[in-house]
Amino acid sequence: MASVDVRAVRKAFGSHEVIHGVDISISDGEFVVLVGPSGCGKSTLLRMIAGLEQITGGEIAIGDRVVNMVPPKERDIAMVFQNYALYPHMKVYDNMAFSLKLKGAPKSEIEERVGVAADVLGLGALLDRYPRQLSGGQRQRVAMGRAIVRNPQVFLFDEPLSNLDAKLRVAMRTEIKALHQRLRTTSVYVTHDQIEAMTMADRIVVMHDGIVEQIGTPLDLYDNPANTFVAGFIGSPA
Ligand code: ADP
Ligand code: MG
Repeated sequence: MASVDVRAVRKAFGSHEVIHGVDISISDGEFVVLVGPSGCGKSTLLRMIAGLEQITGGEIAIGDRVVNMVPPKERDIAMVFQNYALYPHMKVYDNMAFSLKLKGAPKSEIEERVGVAADVLGLGALLDRYPRQLSGGQRQRVAMGRAIVRNPQVFLFDEPLSNLDAKLRVAMRTEIKALHQRLRTTSVYVTHDQIEAMTMADRIVVMHDGIVEQIGTPLDLYDNPANTFVAGFIGSPA
Protein backbone atom coordinates (compact mmCIF):
# COMPACT_ATOMS: atom_id res chain seq x y z
CA MET A 1 0.00 0.00 0.00
CA ALA A 2 1.03 3.59 -0.42
CA SER A 3 -0.06 7.18 -0.22
CA VAL A 4 -0.75 9.10 -3.42
CA ASP A 5 0.15 12.79 -3.60
CA VAL A 6 -1.04 14.97 -6.43
CA ARG A 7 0.73 18.33 -6.18
CA ALA A 8 -0.19 21.37 -8.29
CA VAL A 9 -0.83 19.04 -11.22
CA ARG A 10 -1.71 20.48 -14.59
CA LYS A 11 -2.63 18.89 -17.88
CA ALA A 12 -2.87 20.47 -21.28
CA PHE A 13 -3.73 18.73 -24.54
CA GLY A 14 -1.83 20.88 -27.03
CA SER A 15 -2.55 24.46 -25.98
CA HIS A 16 -5.82 23.54 -24.27
CA GLU A 17 -5.39 23.14 -20.50
CA VAL A 18 -8.00 20.85 -18.89
CA ILE A 19 -6.52 20.38 -15.37
CA HIS A 20 -5.54 23.67 -13.76
CA GLY A 21 -3.34 22.90 -10.76
CA VAL A 22 -4.86 20.19 -8.60
CA ASP A 23 -3.72 19.17 -5.08
CA ILE A 24 -4.97 15.92 -3.56
CA SER A 25 -3.23 14.09 -0.74
CA ILE A 26 -4.44 10.51 -0.30
CA SER A 27 -3.36 8.51 2.74
CA ASP A 28 -2.14 4.96 2.75
CA GLY A 29 -5.22 2.71 2.80
CA GLU A 30 -7.74 5.44 2.12
CA PHE A 31 -10.71 5.07 -0.27
CA VAL A 32 -11.05 8.39 -2.08
CA VAL A 33 -13.79 9.09 -4.61
CA LEU A 34 -13.34 11.67 -7.38
CA VAL A 35 -16.71 13.02 -8.38
CA GLY A 36 -17.84 15.73 -10.78
CA PRO A 37 -19.76 16.26 -14.00
CA SER A 38 -18.79 14.67 -17.28
CA GLY A 39 -15.75 16.40 -18.83
CA CYS A 40 -14.42 17.92 -15.59
CA GLY A 41 -11.17 15.94 -15.80
CA LYS A 42 -11.68 12.88 -13.57
CA SER A 43 -10.43 10.29 -16.05
CA THR A 44 -7.52 12.48 -17.09
CA LEU A 45 -6.43 12.82 -13.47
CA LEU A 46 -6.70 9.07 -12.92
CA ARG A 47 -4.76 8.36 -16.12
CA MET A 48 -2.01 10.72 -14.95
CA ILE A 49 -1.75 8.83 -11.64
CA ALA A 50 -1.51 5.61 -13.66
CA GLY A 51 1.11 7.15 -15.95
CA LEU A 52 -1.07 6.74 -19.05
CA GLU A 53 -1.00 10.51 -19.60
CA GLN A 54 2.03 12.76 -19.07
CA ILE A 55 1.46 15.64 -16.67
CA THR A 56 2.28 19.12 -17.94
CA GLY A 57 2.88 20.72 -14.52
CA GLY A 58 3.35 19.83 -10.86
CA GLU A 59 4.22 16.38 -9.58
CA ILE A 60 2.69 13.07 -8.54
CA ALA A 61 4.19 10.89 -5.81
CA ILE A 62 3.27 7.31 -4.93
CA GLY A 63 4.58 6.60 -1.45
CA ASP A 64 7.73 8.72 -1.25
CA ARG A 65 8.64 8.24 -4.88
CA VAL A 66 7.95 11.00 -7.42
CA VAL A 67 6.67 9.13 -10.48
CA ASN A 68 6.40 11.89 -13.10
CA MET A 69 8.90 10.10 -15.34
CA VAL A 70 8.05 6.53 -14.32
CA PRO A 71 6.27 4.49 -17.04
CA PRO A 72 2.91 2.84 -16.18
CA LYS A 73 4.35 -0.67 -15.92
CA GLU A 74 6.80 0.44 -13.25
CA ARG A 75 4.11 2.06 -11.11
CA ASP A 76 2.68 -0.44 -8.66
CA ILE A 77 -0.91 0.23 -9.69
CA ALA A 78 -3.87 -1.71 -11.04
CA MET A 79 -6.71 -0.04 -12.90
CA VAL A 80 -10.33 -1.21 -13.30
CA PHE A 81 -12.25 0.40 -16.15
CA GLN A 82 -15.86 0.60 -17.21
CA ASN A 83 -15.20 -1.39 -20.37
CA TYR A 84 -13.29 -4.25 -18.83
CA ALA A 85 -12.29 -6.58 -21.66
CA LEU A 86 -11.86 -10.18 -20.59
CA TYR A 87 -10.04 -12.57 -22.90
CA PRO A 88 -12.98 -14.49 -24.43
CA HIS A 89 -10.96 -17.62 -25.26
CA MET A 90 -9.58 -17.97 -21.71
CA LYS A 91 -11.30 -19.46 -18.71
CA VAL A 92 -11.83 -17.29 -15.63
CA TYR A 93 -8.76 -18.79 -13.96
CA ASP A 94 -6.54 -17.97 -16.92
CA ASN A 95 -7.98 -14.48 -17.26
CA MET A 96 -6.95 -13.81 -13.67
CA ALA A 97 -3.60 -15.59 -13.95
CA PHE A 98 -2.55 -13.94 -17.21
CA SER A 99 -0.59 -10.93 -15.90
CA LEU A 100 1.23 -13.08 -13.36
CA LYS A 101 2.19 -15.59 -16.08
CA LEU A 102 3.51 -12.72 -18.19
CA LYS A 103 5.68 -11.62 -15.27
CA GLY A 104 7.02 -15.17 -15.00
CA ALA A 105 5.63 -15.82 -11.51
CA PRO A 106 5.99 -19.43 -10.32
CA LYS A 107 2.94 -21.66 -10.81
CA SER A 108 2.46 -22.19 -7.06
CA GLU A 109 2.38 -18.44 -6.45
CA ILE A 110 -0.08 -17.91 -9.32
CA GLU A 111 -2.37 -20.61 -7.92
CA GLU A 112 -2.26 -19.09 -4.48
CA ARG A 113 -2.92 -15.52 -5.61
CA VAL A 114 -5.75 -16.49 -7.96
CA GLY A 115 -7.19 -18.66 -5.17
CA VAL A 116 -7.20 -15.77 -2.70
CA ALA A 117 -8.73 -13.36 -5.23
CA ALA A 118 -11.38 -15.90 -6.23
CA ASP A 119 -12.20 -16.43 -2.57
CA VAL A 120 -12.47 -12.71 -1.83
CA LEU A 121 -14.72 -12.18 -4.86
CA GLY A 122 -16.81 -15.34 -4.59
CA LEU A 123 -15.55 -16.67 -7.91
CA GLY A 124 -14.36 -20.04 -6.62
CA ALA A 125 -17.03 -22.06 -8.44
CA LEU A 126 -16.59 -20.18 -11.72
CA LEU A 127 -12.89 -20.62 -12.42
CA ASP A 128 -13.49 -23.14 -15.23
CA ARG A 129 -16.06 -21.04 -17.05
CA TYR A 130 -15.51 -18.89 -20.09
CA PRO A 131 -16.51 -15.18 -19.99
CA ARG A 132 -19.51 -15.83 -22.28
CA GLN A 133 -20.89 -18.16 -19.59
CA LEU A 134 -20.93 -15.37 -16.96
CA SER A 135 -23.41 -12.66 -16.02
CA GLY A 136 -22.44 -8.98 -16.23
CA GLY A 137 -21.77 -8.80 -12.50
CA GLN A 138 -19.66 -11.94 -12.57
CA ARG A 139 -17.60 -10.54 -15.44
CA GLN A 140 -17.03 -7.33 -13.54
CA ARG A 141 -15.83 -9.42 -10.59
CA VAL A 142 -13.37 -11.24 -12.83
CA ALA A 143 -12.10 -7.86 -14.05
CA MET A 144 -11.53 -6.90 -10.42
CA GLY A 145 -9.92 -10.27 -9.78
CA ARG A 146 -7.37 -9.52 -12.48
CA ALA A 147 -6.46 -6.32 -10.63
CA ILE A 148 -6.37 -7.98 -7.19
CA VAL A 149 -4.02 -10.83 -8.13
CA ARG A 150 -1.35 -8.28 -8.91
CA ASN A 151 -1.48 -7.14 -5.28
CA PRO A 152 -0.81 -3.52 -6.21
CA GLN A 153 -0.08 -0.62 -3.89
CA VAL A 154 -2.92 1.37 -5.42
CA PHE A 155 -6.22 0.57 -7.16
CA LEU A 156 -7.62 3.05 -9.65
CA PHE A 157 -11.27 2.64 -10.65
CA ASP A 158 -12.75 4.62 -13.55
CA GLU A 159 -16.56 4.38 -13.38
CA PRO A 160 -16.34 0.59 -13.12
CA LEU A 161 -20.08 0.12 -12.55
CA SER A 162 -21.60 2.44 -15.11
CA ASN A 163 -22.34 -0.35 -17.60
CA LEU A 164 -24.29 -2.39 -15.05
CA ASP A 165 -28.01 -2.13 -14.34
CA ALA A 166 -29.12 -0.16 -11.28
CA LYS A 167 -29.70 -3.13 -8.99
CA LEU A 168 -26.38 -4.75 -9.73
CA ARG A 169 -24.64 -1.41 -9.34
CA VAL A 170 -25.85 -1.13 -5.76
CA ALA A 171 -24.74 -4.69 -4.98
CA MET A 172 -21.30 -4.17 -6.53
CA ARG A 173 -20.79 -0.93 -4.59
CA THR A 174 -21.19 -2.89 -1.38
CA GLU A 175 -18.84 -5.58 -2.64
CA ILE A 176 -16.12 -3.14 -3.61
CA LYS A 177 -16.33 -1.52 -0.19
CA ALA A 178 -16.17 -4.91 1.54
CA LEU A 179 -13.15 -5.73 -0.58
CA HIS A 180 -11.49 -2.54 0.54
CA GLN A 181 -12.22 -3.27 4.20
CA ARG A 182 -10.50 -6.60 3.72
CA LEU A 183 -7.49 -5.61 1.61
CA ARG A 184 -7.06 -1.97 2.69
CA THR A 185 -5.45 -1.10 -0.62
CA THR A 186 -5.26 2.65 -1.27
CA SER A 187 -8.04 3.31 -3.79
CA VAL A 188 -8.99 6.19 -6.06
CA TYR A 189 -12.49 5.70 -7.43
CA VAL A 190 -13.98 7.88 -10.16
CA THR A 191 -17.71 8.30 -10.63
CA HIS A 192 -20.16 10.94 -11.78
CA ASP A 193 -22.78 9.43 -9.44
CA GLN A 194 -23.19 11.42 -6.21
CA ILE A 195 -24.91 8.55 -4.39
CA GLU A 196 -22.05 6.22 -5.23
CA ALA A 197 -19.60 8.83 -3.93
CA MET A 198 -21.53 9.48 -0.71
CA THR A 199 -21.90 5.79 0.14
CA MET A 200 -18.41 4.57 -0.77
CA ALA A 201 -15.92 7.32 0.08
CA ASP A 202 -13.71 7.86 3.10
CA ARG A 203 -13.22 11.26 1.50
CA ILE A 204 -14.74 12.81 -1.60
CA VAL A 205 -12.93 15.11 -4.04
CA VAL A 206 -15.43 17.31 -5.89
CA MET A 207 -14.06 18.41 -9.27
CA HIS A 208 -15.45 21.00 -11.65
CA ASP A 209 -13.89 22.24 -14.91
CA GLY A 210 -10.38 21.02 -14.10
CA ILE A 211 -10.13 22.27 -10.54
CA VAL A 212 -10.91 20.81 -7.11
CA GLU A 213 -13.87 22.58 -5.51
CA GLN A 214 -13.68 20.78 -2.15
CA ILE A 215 -12.23 17.72 -0.43
CA GLY A 216 -13.85 16.22 2.64
CA THR A 217 -15.73 13.34 4.20
CA PRO A 218 -19.24 12.76 2.84
CA LEU A 219 -20.62 14.34 6.01
CA ASP A 220 -18.32 17.41 5.72
CA LEU A 221 -19.49 18.04 2.19
CA TYR A 222 -23.11 17.52 3.05
CA ASP A 223 -23.02 19.71 6.17
CA ASN A 224 -20.52 22.34 5.07
CA PRO A 225 -20.37 22.63 1.29
CA ALA A 226 -17.71 25.17 0.29
CA ASN A 227 -19.87 26.78 -2.39
CA THR A 228 -23.08 26.49 -4.34
CA PHE A 229 -21.55 24.13 -6.89
CA VAL A 230 -20.68 21.57 -4.20
CA ALA A 231 -24.03 22.08 -2.48
CA GLY A 232 -25.90 21.57 -5.74
CA PHE A 233 -23.83 18.61 -6.83
CA ILE A 234 -23.81 16.71 -3.55
CA GLY A 235 -27.33 17.67 -2.60
CA SER A 236 -29.18 16.58 -5.72
CA PRO A 237 -29.58 12.94 -6.70
CA ALA A 238 -28.14 11.65 -10.03
P1 ADP B 1 -14.28 13.14 -17.17
O1 ADP B 1 -13.60 11.83 -16.99
O2 ADP B 1 -14.44 13.92 -15.90
O3 ADP B 1 -15.57 13.02 -17.89
P2 ADP B 1 -12.04 13.70 -18.93
O4 ADP B 1 -10.87 13.61 -18.04
O5 ADP B 1 -12.31 12.52 -19.81
O6 ADP B 1 -13.34 14.07 -18.09
O7 ADP B 1 -11.88 14.96 -19.86
C1 ADP B 1 -11.55 16.24 -19.36
C2 ADP B 1 -11.38 17.21 -20.52
O8 ADP B 1 -10.22 16.85 -21.27
C3 ADP B 1 -12.55 17.18 -21.50
O9 ADP B 1 -12.75 18.51 -21.95
C4 ADP B 1 -12.04 16.32 -22.63
O10 ADP B 1 -12.63 16.68 -23.85
C5 ADP B 1 -10.55 16.63 -22.64
N1 ADP B 1 -9.73 15.48 -23.09
C6 ADP B 1 -9.62 14.27 -22.50
N2 ADP B 1 -8.77 13.47 -23.17
C7 ADP B 1 -8.32 14.21 -24.23
C8 ADP B 1 -7.40 13.96 -25.31
N3 ADP B 1 -6.77 12.79 -25.42
N4 ADP B 1 -7.18 14.96 -26.17
C9 ADP B 1 -7.80 16.16 -26.06
N5 ADP B 1 -8.67 16.47 -25.08
C10 ADP B 1 -8.93 15.52 -24.17
MG1 MG C 1 -14.25 9.87 -17.47
